[in-house]
Amino acid sequence: MAKRDYYEVLGISKGASASEIKKAYRKKAIEFHPDKNPDDKEAEAKFKEAAEAYEVLSDADKKARYDQFGHQAFENGGGGFGGGGMNMDDIFSQFGDIFGGGFGGGFSGFGGGGGQRRVKGSNLRIRVKLTLEEIANGIEKKIKVKRKIQAPGTTYKTCSTCNGSGQVTRIANTILGRMQTSAPCNVCGGAGQTIDKKPNDADSQGLKVAEETVSIKIPAGVVDGMQLKVSGKGNEAPGNGVSGDLIVLIEEEAHDKLQREGDNLHYDLYVSYPDAVLGTTKEIDTVTGKVRIKVEAGVQSGKILRLRGKGIPSINGYGKGDLLVHVNVWTPKTLNKQQKEFFESMRNDEHFDPKPESSDKSFFEKVKDMFS
Ligand code: ZN
Repeated sequence: MAKRDYYEVLGISKGASASEIKKAYRKKAIEFHPDKNPDDKEAEAKFKEAAEAYEVLSDADKKARYDQFGHQAFENGGGGFGGGGMNMDDIFSQFGDIFGGGFGGGFSGFGGGGGQRRVKGSNLRIRVKLTLEEIANGIEKKIKVKRKIQAPGTTYKTCSTCNGSGQVTRIANTILGRMQTSAPCNVCGGAGQTIDKKPNDADSQGLKVAEETVSIKIPAGVVDGMQLKVSGKGNEAPGNGVSGDLIVLIEEEAHDKLQREGDNLHYDLYVSYPDAVLGTTKEIDTVTGKVRIKVEAGVQSGKILRLRGKGIPSINGYGKGDLLVHVNVWTPKTLNKQQKEFFESMRNDEHFDPKPESSDKSFFEKVKDMFS
């Protein structure tokens, strides 16, 4: 799917000023915020798209490059959004700038409707190691996670200092006149609730650590270093707050036969001298099991056999990579007398004379082919 123009995403014209860009983004961020659109994938995508557009257009240098080169300015590692775009943490960390203070310290929300913020539990991070086979096929992992939950028996009551609003408003007389300022309530920490009763094993917020098995659906095609978010499986928040998220960091285990390069896989196949001369079939490992491949008689070392669709599925859901089998002809290092005599007698034989054909491309031509 083609990327939308950043100005179009924010609904502004190219001549928009910095404050217009900020205002437009603020509007989109509120409209598509995940707290307002729970489990709405389309809203989440639009939320991310707007954040990405703002990230570029709010930065004079990036904006200039975008205006000149479009999306190409940020491709090929040009300082853009390689490997799957901005994650939610990046987006939320951007908010301080947009919405003013008050989003730090565990708050992230527009909840309540009447301006009251709901406390959000902290995010948890775990690493999940995956084999290449698991990555190729996608997998549902059941992982034990230690997360804070509201301890059974804990009850909360409305904070009497802020009457549940989480905010304390003060009127101050200044030389500019009467000014109204508001700040998070320091009794409840902005939550609007305080602890009523809690059991002895709960912490000061009424929480305790519990082990829980979380099922994590990992789509096929994930990449080492990628982060997945499982909403609501981080630490619970006290009172009527919302749970944090579980951030899953993907780690790819090395495979002993296959090397990954994007969605393609590479396999080094060694064939003996007689097999190369006479042809053979070989069984090789793929991410979906073993397959037999035919090695033609007279195969040259360096030949690449392409098994279409035997690579890794694209994380975007568009097609699959290939498995590239690199043929290496193994030249014997030691020979017995009889073998030595045989090769000696073949030294001047015309069949052993190298006669490269146009189909036997040189190494450099093959490399060129692979990147074209
Ligand atoms: Zn309070």
